[in-house]
Amino acid sequence: MSFNGPQVEKNWDVVVIGAGPAGASAARKAAVGGCRTLILERRRVVGRPVQCAEYVPLAVATKAAPSSWAQSVEGMLTFIEGRLCAENRWPGVVLHRERFDQDLARQAVEAGACLLEGSRVQTLQEGRVTFFREGRPHEVEAPILIGADGPLSRTAMALGLRHRAFLHGFQVRAGLRSPMTHTEVHFWPMFREGYGWVFPKGEWANVGLGVARSQAGRLPGLLGTFLEHLRRRGIIGSELQGRPTGGLVPVGGPHPVTAGGSILLAGDAAGHTDPITGGGIPNAILCGELAGQVASEALGSGDMELLARYEESWRDLLLPSLERALTHRRQACENWMRGSFQDLVRSHWVAFREYFSPGKG
Ligand SMILES: Cc1cc2nc3c(=O)[nH]c(=O)nc-3n(C[C@H](O)[C@H](O)[C@H](O)COP(=O)(O)OP(=O)(O)OC[C@H]3O[C@@H](n4cnc5c(N)ncnc54)[C@H](O)[C@@H]3O)c2cc1C
Repeated sequence: MSFNGPQVEKNWDVVVIGAGPAGASAARKAAVGGCRTLILERRRVVGRPVQCAEYVPLAVATKAAPSSWAQSVEGMLTFIEGRLCAENRWPGVVLHRERFDQDLARQAVEAGACLLEGSRVQTLQEGRVTFFREGRPHEVEAPILIGADGPLSRTAMALGLRHRAFLHGFQVRAGLRSPMTHTEVHFWPMFREGYGWVFPKGEWANVGLGVARSQAGRLPGLLGTFLEHLRRRGIIGSELQGRPTGGLVPVGGPHPVTAGGSILLAGDAAGHTDPITGGGIPNAILCGELAGQVASEALGSGDMELLARYEESWRDLLLPSLERALTHRRQACENWMRGSFQDLVRSHWVAFREYFSPGKG
């Protein structure tokens, strides 16, 4: 999929940093809008390694080919301290995330974008990007840069922005004793400020948990305890596949600005991830598409002032739900070890009506 020529052209209309869901979606929209678009991706192969529990709502799964779907699910079960407390009918898909990301990138390339894998961006200034590829530095220029480079975004840092609140995620692939029709989410006080998940993929499931930074050193032990609990319940057997994987989920909400001069931020780089669920793929795609669209409109009209529309449009669509989630997260973190744990989860988790009650979050 990658462009492998010895020379990298210097001048582009749009340079996108990162080929995750946000970057691929931004590049596709920009290319469809007629922009000469370059995507720089530091990984040698898009989407690899997978650092994700891989669940998306059904509507989001349809953004990529069905070959990237591992399993459909009917809904989500929520357990609090081992007790089933809610069943939500939320049809979704557990993905083959690597294939999903690769299919989104393929769509961008088919729309005309050029993808350079193995290209790590080092420095950015307005209109200019330096990156390393095959051990050599390269420089490209473009009037618009889109930073879609994930939770530790260099593009955001170039704007003086960095995330401060993260959940630390850690998971393993475990063999299921029998097929599952729902995802499972598990709350225990020891999974501090986060939760555990069992997301089925046929005969296997992603079993993992996300916890506060203060507990990150305990993740292997906590995962072991969680696996043992699931074995005792007869959900999983003793078989594990591959090594544990993990990653950071930015849960502090969006940056105060996501459009600075000619630079736009999208996805985890911008803080578009849901602060309560930690799910970020849907918003990454949505905001990536908006960024690419606005970039092509600004270039097409020659009016760079139009870039400000990006900030307005994603805030109109997402800010109320992100702010509600952020308020819930703050309240849940403050009260995690106080009072009834059942009540805490019922007040602050999306599966319960209380989450959406006025005055809550
Ligand atoms: C353990 C875990 C489980 C998760 N589970 C789910 C889930 O089930 N459902 C869900 O919706 N979300 C989940 N998420 C969150 C989800 O993975 C992210 O929100 C989503 O990937 C954001 O997409 P993105 O395109 O913004 O960033 P990413 O997918 O992180 O893509 C960023 C890309 O930029 C590249 N990059 C970074 N720096 C540079 C650089 N300097 N130069 C060039 N390229 C660079 C990276 O290699 C990467 O390919 C999970 C996250 C974790 C850590």
